Amino acid sequence: MAIPVTMADILHSVPAEDKLGFGTIFTDHMFVMDYEAEKGWHSPRIVPYEKFGVYPSNMTLHYGQAIFEGIKAFRTEDDRIVVFRVNDYLNRFNQSADHLCIPRIDVREVKQGLFQLLEIEKKWVPSKLGTALYIRPFIIATDPYVGVKVSDTYRLFIILSPVGAYYAAGFNPVSIKVEDKYVRATPGGLGEAKTPANYAMSLRAQVEAKKEGYTQVLWLDAIHRKYIEEVGTMNILFKINGEIITPALNGSILSGITRRTVLEVARDWGVKATERQISIEEVYEAHDKGTLEEVFGSGTAAVISPVGELSWKGKKITINNNQTGETAHKLFDYITGLQYGKQEDKFGWVETVTKL
Ligand SMILES: *Cc1c(COP(=O)(O)O)cnc(C)c1O
Repeated sequence: MAIPVTMADILHSVPAEDKLGFGTIFTDHMFVMDYEAEKGWHSPRIVPYEKFGVYPSNMTLHYGQAIFEGIKAFRTEDDRIVVFRVNDYLNRFNQSADHLCIPRIDVREVKQGLFQLLEIEKKWVPSKLGTALYIRPFIIATDPYVGVKVSDTYRLFIILSPVGAYYAAGFNPVSIKVEDKYVRATPGGLGEAKTPANYAMSLRAQVEAKKEGYTQVLWLDAIHRKYIEEVGTMNILFKINGEIITPALNGSILSGITRRTVLEVARDWGVKATERQISIEEVYEAHDKGTLEEVFGSGTAAVISPVGELSWKGKKITINNNQTGETAHKLFDYITGLQYGKQEDKFGWVETVTKL
């Protein structure tokens, strides 16, 4: 069944592809759906992208009961609009919902709404290599109540934002501070949910690291301040002695879809890819022994982000002469090749939404 659509009065023209940046431009329409205990999720609809009203007592504003996702749609060379691993992202949305006591969505229903929205907004999907239409589904609690409890009502939104090439200035390694003062997530906490609380936790460390000249922080575990977790908006992978190693999912790390993609692709290539606990000392020792070959982050925004420098307690190490490593490069080319339809999709990760 088609979802009811209210078209916007003014349809904006699409911005130039070299002026997109990240997360500042939004398309003309959005998908919305509401939840009430008696009705479940109901009234899916596509409406103009515009402001909406909540009471100042809105529960999300006070206690942060909210979740989100970050997905991408791409335009292929033969002008198809495709999405990458969309079921995996929407299933993770439900896992985050469980952590925040938010009612689960029907993945098929929300996916149908997303596809219909993408059909309406297809002109907004940019075509240049590296650009994409960023898809941001999110759910907020809507009860007007200032006591702490689980909300009885919710609203789900999907908004769309055309984004520019992440590596406009080239595929260059970043410099990362290993955080030894602040922590992001604790065992038994919300670390594996995509929820605003985790980002609130990260801001102070991020500001201090920026001041010191680093682009991001690498989080260590909250108990021992020793085992590597992730990089705030990315998972982290190390190539040591020919083997890719990434921290195992332990409950306080976000289970990245790009992380999963990298592991599956590497294994398909016959590269050993291991998920296990790894300490910062082990990484520094590997560097001293000359076996630390590469370090790179993985996430939907950048796909692969090579790390050229790590700094831990004032000790700086340089990785691969501050050059992008061969594995990072190969993974980036292959995964983006799948996303832009240049590479045959033998994994079944790419779904065609529509044609232009
Ligand atoms: C979204 C996110 C990632 C990356 O996950 P992808 O699914 O690969 O985009 C990593 N860490 C955190 C904290 C995140 O929110």
